[in-house]
Amino acid sequence: MSVGTQLDQVVGELRQADRFLLTTHENPDGDALGSLLGMHWVLEQLGKDSVMYMSPDEFPLSHEYRHMTFEGLLAAPPDDVDDRTVVFLDCGNIDRMPVAFLQREGVHILNVDHHHDNTHFGTVNLVVPEASCTAEIVFDLATELGAEISPRIADALYVGLVTDTGRFMYQNTSPAAHRMAADLIEAGVDTHAIYRRLFEDLPFRRLQLLSHALQGVARYDDGAITLAMLSRHDYEQTGALETDSEGVVDHMRAVEGTKVAVLVRELLADDRRGRRKVSLRATDGQVDVSLIARALGGGGHRQAAGFTTALAPDELVRSLREQVAAQLPAA
Ligand code: AMP
Ligand code: MN
Ligand code: MN
Repeated sequence: MSVGTQLDQVVGELRQADRFLLTTHENPDGDALGSLLGMHWVLEQLGKDSVMYMSPDEFPLSHEYRHMTFEGLLAAPPDDVDDRTVVFLDCGNIDRMPVAFLQREGVHILNVDHHHDNTHFGTVNLVVPEASCTAEIVFDLATELGAEISPRIADALYVGLVTDTGRFMYQNTSPAAHRMAADLIEAGVDTHAIYRRLFEDLPFRRLQLLSHALQGVARYDDGAITLAMLSRHDYEQTGALETDSEGVVDHMRAVEGTKVAVLVRELLADDRRGRRKVSLRATDGQVDVSLIARALGGGGHRQAAGFTTALAPDELVRSLREQVAAQLPAA
């Protein structure tokens, strides 16, 4: 089905239904949160009954999103969940929202996303891999629905746009992404204020956690892989929170010769003991990191992907090296 038809279908559903429940993926990033809030406010403006759901485990949110407020956010399914149209935003795979009430048979799901490996788990799927971020798709939906882009909707969507494009520097930064930025700025976004909230004004413990990561950086295969690890110990010593590692992998990505940047961090929750979260970033088109993430139980984009694993660090590194080597032309 063409994207145009998918868009028409979703617009039709959004117009017709009255009650919605919006959600996104676990460990929500700027695009997840911005798309969720933006869509919620668009639906409210159209007079709809919209509620948002995220697991209480997600709170407190990563520091950069502390200014985003989710008034009326549900921490449990509402009684009338079966009568609501569920809208998933920025979630490529339903297992990234591991919550039983959303995974039951018969839930009516609109799946709005831009991951190329989206599993099309929705009743209706609007998957646009060319979109720089899910916020861009929400922006298009809002326009189709005739919603006014109010300053707070503009702010929310801009957060999705600026984070998923790496401040307009990643390959997904299309003309459409810049046009949307211009429209959002006209709608009232204060770009510098959002920049300060997202990327500055950081707790000092973040810098300390980064310094721990930098001390142990390893390079493999002539530097094709640049990898940092953070252990439970690093978190304890710096007093950092789990979400404080956001952005660390970008420092690995920036090193000359790197094809794939990796951050491996130990998960801290008791029920995740022994498991690690792996973030992968490709620097150029040579390696598709979403293939590697998928082989190890995760997914994502060609240039940015992730997974969690129970593999021991040495086995994990061996597997990553093999898979990166398999994608690189023989030296
Ligand atoms: P992260 O490394 O967590 O910043 O994630 C980078 C990209 O990989 C994002 O686009 C995520 O959607 C995707 N991703 C991360 N973790 C997973 C996972 N466990 N399963 C599927 N996709 C993931
Ligand atoms: Mn996301
Ligand atoms: Mn996204």
